[in-house]
Amino acid sequence: MVEVIEASVLRTADYIDKEALDPRVMEAMGTVPRHEFVPEAVKSSAYEDRPLPIGQGQTISQPYIVALMTDLMHPGPEQKVLEIGTGSGYQAAVLAELIDKVYTIEIIEELGEQAADRFRRLGYDNITSRVGDGYYGWEEHAPFDAILVTAASSHIPPPLIKQLKPGGRMVIPVGGHFMVQQLVLIEKTEQGKIITHQILPVRFVPLTGDH
Ligand code: SAM
Repeated sequence: MVEVIEASVLRTADYIDKEALDPRVMEAMGTVPRHEFVPEAVKSSAYEDRPLPIGQGQTISQPYIVALMTDLMHPGPEQKVLEIGTGSGYQAAVLAELIDKVYTIEIIEELGEQAADRFRRLGYDNITSRVGDGYYGWEEHAPFDAILVTAASSHIPPPLIKQLKPGGRMVIPVGGHFMVQQLVLIEKTEQGKIITHQILPVRFVPLTGDH
C-alpha cells in the first residue's frame, strides 16, 4: 500500500508540488493497521489504495488522500489537532502516530461509538473523540495547530477558521455533493490573515448537519 501511495504521489507531483511526502507520514501509513478499521466484509481489500464502505453510507478515505492531507498539515509531535468526520477512525489513528493530542468529531452516533471502542482496543490513548456536528469545531479545546475536515463542505466553516491558531493550517474538501470538489489548504498567518491554496480535485461524502 505504501508503495502504491508513493507512485500516486509521483503521478500527482504537478498538483502537489513535490515528488515525495514527509517520510514520517509514510512511516505512519505503514504502521497503522488499516484492516482494523474496516468491516469484516471488505477486510481483504483493506490495503488497496481506494475508499471502502464502513456502513451508514459512509467511507474510509483512500490511503493516498489520507497521506496527502496529513502531509499538507505539517504534523509535529507537540501539536494539538482537530479532525472533523471520524468515520472509521483511521485518519485519526494516522494523526495519532505523529501528534501528541488528536481530537475528532463524528456526526453519526453509531460510527462515533464504534471508532471510540476501536481507539480503546488499539491503545490510541492520545485520541479524544465525541459525537456531534463538527461544523462548529470543539471550542473547549481550541485553538488548534491544525484542522482536518474529511467531508466536503460548500464553504469553509467560519467556526473552524476561528478555532485555528495563528500560524495554523487547515485542510478541507470544498464543493457540492455532485460537483467536482477541490482539496483546499488554508493557512492562517501569525497576523491572522487567511491564505487559501487549491491542491487537487477530490471526491468526498458531504459534510452534513443543520448549520
Ligand atoms: N476520516 C474518516 C476515516 O478515516 O475513516 C473518513 C471520513 S468519511 C469520508 C466522512 C465522515 O464525516 C463520515 O463518517 C460522516 O458521517 C462524517 N461527517 C459528515 N458531516 C459531519 C459533521 N457535520 N460533523 C462531523 N462528522 C461529519
